Amino acid sequence: MYLKKFIAPGIFILLATAISAQDSIPSYIVTAGKLPQLAYSTGEDRLGSAKMGYIDTLIPLKVIDTVRNLYKVQLSVLHYAFIEKTYTQPITDTSLPIVLCESWRVKGGDEFDSVSFSLNGRVAYKSWMEIDPARIKIELYNVQSNTNWITQLSSAKAVKNVWYEQTENDVLQVTIELLKQQHYGYKIGYNGSSLLLTVRRVPANASIKNMTIAIDAGHGGTNPGASGTSSGVLEKNYTLLFAKELQKILKKQKAKVIMVREADTTIENKDRVLWAQQNNPDIFISFHLNSSGRRSARGVSTYYKHIGYRAFTQSLLKRLLEIKNLEEFGNIGSFNFQPIQPTEYPSCLVEVAFLSNEQDEKMILDPKFRTKVANQVYLGIKDWMKQLK
Ligand SMILES: [Zn+2]
Repeated sequence: MYLKKFIAPGIFILLATAISAQDSIPSYIVTAGKLPQLAYSTGEDRLGSAKMGYIDTLIPLKVIDTVRNLYKVQLSVLHYAFIEKTYTQPITDTSLPIVLCESWRVKGGDEFDSVSFSLNGRVAYKSWMEIDPARIKIELYNVQSNTNWITQLSSAKAVKNVWYEQTENDVLQVTIELLKQQHYGYKIGYNGSSLLLTVRRVPANASIKNMTIAIDAGHGGTNPGASGTSSGVLEKNYTLLFAKELQKILKKQKAKVIMVREADTTIENKDRVLWAQQNNPDIFISFHLNSSGRRSARGVSTYYKHIGYRAFTQSLLKRLLEIKNLEEFGNIGSFNFQPIQPTEYPSCLVEVAFLSNEQDEKMILDPKFRTKVANQVYLGIKDWMKQLK
């Protein structure tokens, strides 16, 4: 992981304010483009503000302010969020009447369960995972319940119970209780004005052979990432070596392996997400090499965004810590890194070790170490799959 910091944020903000003052601010917009997402704040760290999650397109929102490249939008009387202007289009609406949520339907398909919510218009939402017990929560904004009918078919195999609470006059909170205690992925989007949640089932006979595993070698092409303090080697070349080692091991186990890149290619993080969502892997693993201004910082770390995927990242870390001389840097949650943002499949970012630390760098350069890392990741996947049953 390596991203440039703003050298003079003060100047940047002044400029951005001057530019935005010239634009006229629309009163209402709809979400647009590929992967629009809502953010909680205008706060920035090196990976941008904390994300509320991706949302579908054509959702109308009221603009209440503009901050740099963001609109501040009203979700409900008491809730607001931020969205990048590039993911919006102005509309001519002059009000957003409250939307009614009508009946729901829960049913099972071949690999998914689905829950559909009839609404008389598209509204903004956010979702999150809960564990112990495993639940998916959805909050719908500018919505009032008229839900007096929830059909639940016995074909549903992943969803145990569904219910709601009107937590505020215009906020509807939906709970989807899962039958299994592990999260295996879900997707939310609109089908017309009905909101559709699809919940992926934990496979009945989870085995590496039946799995599609996506491997993401971080950086590439014009994005070199960090570089080795002593050797000058580039992160992008070594993430690819780790990715290929894992590919080799998993192929031997007859898994279906799909690679984000197999050469020195430039791929935007957003395109990695779009690619993965299209290919629908069972799991997604991203390799990076860490770097710090503090030379003594060293060790391995694994990262997740959604709490439901923590167990997966812990399984990988536990096995990686068996490697001699590889110290623990930690298991890191709520991580704001785009490729592990999707809810559709369990994902883990692995920062194998630090290119900025002398001992770690030596290990990274050693092919035996790279094979060992890939093998431990493989064992970590297997450990986690045992928990799925
Ligand atoms: Zn990196």
